[in-house]
Amino acid sequence: MWSPGLGPKGCFVRKKTVIIGAGVIGLTLAAELAKSGAEVEVYESRVSVSQNAGRASGIFSTEGLSRIGIDYAPALQNTLNGAVISGGKQSFAIETKGTKAFVLDRRILAELCAENAIKNGAKVILGKRISREELLELAHDKNNILVGADGAVSNVASVFGFPKIDEYVLTYKAEYENARVGDIHKVGLFFSNKIAQRFFGWTVPYSGSKLEVGVGVSSYSRQNSMSAFNAFIKNRSVGDMIKDAKRTIGYASIIPLQVRKKTVMNNVLLVGDAAGQVKATTGGGIIFGTACARIAAKAIMENIGAGKPLERYEKMWRSAYGLDLRLHKMVHGYYSNLNDRGFSMAIIGAKLLGLEKFLGKYGDMDSPKLMMKRFFLRSLSN
Ligand SMILES: Cc1cc2nc3c(=O)[nH]c(=O)nc-3n(C[C@H](O)[C@H](O)[C@H](O)COP(=O)(O)OP(=O)(O)OC[C@H]3O[C@@H](n4cnc5c(N)ncnc54)[C@H](O)[C@@H]3O)c2cc1C
Repeated sequence: MWSPGLGPKGCFVRKKTVIIGAGVIGLTLAAELAKSGAEVEVYESRVSVSQNAGRASGIFSTEGLSRIGIDYAPALQNTLNGAVISGGKQSFAIETKGTKAFVLDRRILAELCAENAIKNGAKVILGKRISREELLELAHDKNNILVGADGAVSNVASVFGFPKIDEYVLTYKAEYENARVGDIHKVGLFFSNKIAQRFFGWTVPYSGSKLEVGVGVSSYSRQNSMSAFNAFIKNRSVGDMIKDAKRTIGYASIIPLQVRKKTVMNNVLLVGDAAGQVKATTGGGIIFGTACARIAAKAIMENIGAGKPLERYEKMWRSAYGLDLRLHKMVHGYYSNLNDRGFSMAIIGAKLLGLEKFLGKYGDMDSPKLMMKRFFLRSLSN
């Protein structure tokens, strides 16, 4: 439970945490803090938490989801048991034993996270964009802990001079009805430097007839995501899936591809996409972001209750997840430099090395570190 810290003149002060952004990560942090008895306010510029949530996909490992701390069942759309990866003229299939990932409806997930935060006692204020002046004023009061959970293009990070993120992925995704989905339990990943430079295109089945199609291009490239998307849907296998389908909605968005070099300065913290706590391989940010939000909650509670420095957040999350995020960045660094011939060669090589089977058996969508560990333990026990 929360206990008040001792103020400068020996009196007890009650600190307040102000979170900018009611995305999944800000709301997770708010719920954790409120559960521990802290005073917490979340400000969100949009009028509803689900308003823009559909701009992202909802693929999560079953294992990662079990740790996000809410009952996500109402958001469940589909189950996944593998992926088909295409690159150049080759393709590669990963088949897992049983369900290893879920597709969730991101709008419902956002609503569930908001309900959870409010139920635990957090104050969530919608339709209020916090300006630069208001941010400076909030941080000026040392009884406030200010958290930037304000997404990839974090205003909090730029106002307080946090180190910049150099590379982003620009995305465009659309949803289709009456699509010819094929295997409804497999996602499709399409690598081609001609269509999606330094990232990839994807198809995510929601059901037997509902499909998401999306593409991402690096901010380093000269492409824009909309024209990459138009080129991607002309690709034969994607074109066949959506030939007679109806496009219902489309969104452009952005994903950070790098962790920020610093995520705490004085009484200001960054978490989630604002901190770049995202897997650079796929752009997935919910599992690591929510895990880091829980660490932020612990560091904030220890600051409020025992006066421990907020800087501990930085050390704590980097020692838990820094290596995994660096490994994701290394893998992205490798594939982002391949041309179509290089992708074909890489897939042939991966098949020769038996990686299809290996990934089906030991693959972990979130943690390369854990995947290696499992592999070595199994090898030792065989
Ligand atoms: C196309 C795409 C596909 C993705 N697919 C997956 C996936 O399958 N699995 C996965 O795990 N992750 C995925 N991600 C990443 C995931 O969506 C993000 O990591 C996650 O949404 C980040 O959450 P967040 O709370 O940090 O930021 P956000 O969700 O961006 O929330 C930030 C919030 O802050 C608000 N805000 C900003 N500035 C202010 C201000 N000044 N005042 C008040 N409010 C403000 C914004 O309105 C916004 O609601 C995908 C992303 C994209 C773009």
